[in-house]
Amino acid sequence: MSHSSSSASPSEPWSVPPVAQTRPVIQQGNPVLRQTARSISSQCLTAESLTAEPLTGSTTALQTLIDELIATAIATNGVGIAAPQIAASERLFIIASRPNERYPNAPKMEPTAMINPVLIDRSDQEELGWEGCLSVPDRRGQVSRAKDIRVEYLDRWGALQRSQFSGFVARIFQHELDHLNGILFVDHVAPADLVSEVEYLQRLSRESHPSN
Ligand SMILES: [Zn+2]
Repeated sequence: MSHSSSSASPSEPWSVPPVAQTRPVIQQGNPVLRQTARSISSQCLTAESLTAEPLTGSTTALQTLIDELIATAIATNGVGIAAPQIAASERLFIIASRPNERYPNAPKMEPTAMINPVLIDRSDQEELGWEGCLSVPDRRGQVSRAKDIRVEYLDRWGALQRSQFSGFVARIFQHELDHLNGILFVDHVAPADLVSEVEYLQRLSRESHPSN
């Protein structure tokens, strides 16, 4: 995984503010998951840390939404979560990759909010990898994704960020971007190839201990 930014921005907080609430994650079948999410207006992106102006109501709401998404991702062992998954149909997601029970081999990356994210370029090379989704419990499947991507997004303070991601983090970005377009990972997997969480964990264990 590589992560570089060309524009300076205030560093984002590592930890979730204690006031952030977790929110219920809506489940497959809820029509919000099938909607194309709205772009977030620049009026919501007053760079509070760069100006002395008081927060507007919408800016406060956006910051709260971001903190709630981070808190929800951490509480549910998600490595990413998109705003539509908590019924907010906005173009915003969090990447919060770190090893946990659901993804034992995930790389560690500071929770990062990505607003109005865009896929700028993608490698022709794709790779298959396991995915799951907080909105599709007890289902896992292997999805082919571009191995390397170049992206742009606005960070939580409204600063334009350009980044490159590879491998698992590129996979998370593509999975979450799908959510903003009403697409779920199961749409990319033949139904007969979906497996349960228990079966997925057993396969992972066999892959990392092939002699067992
Ligand atoms: Zn998902």
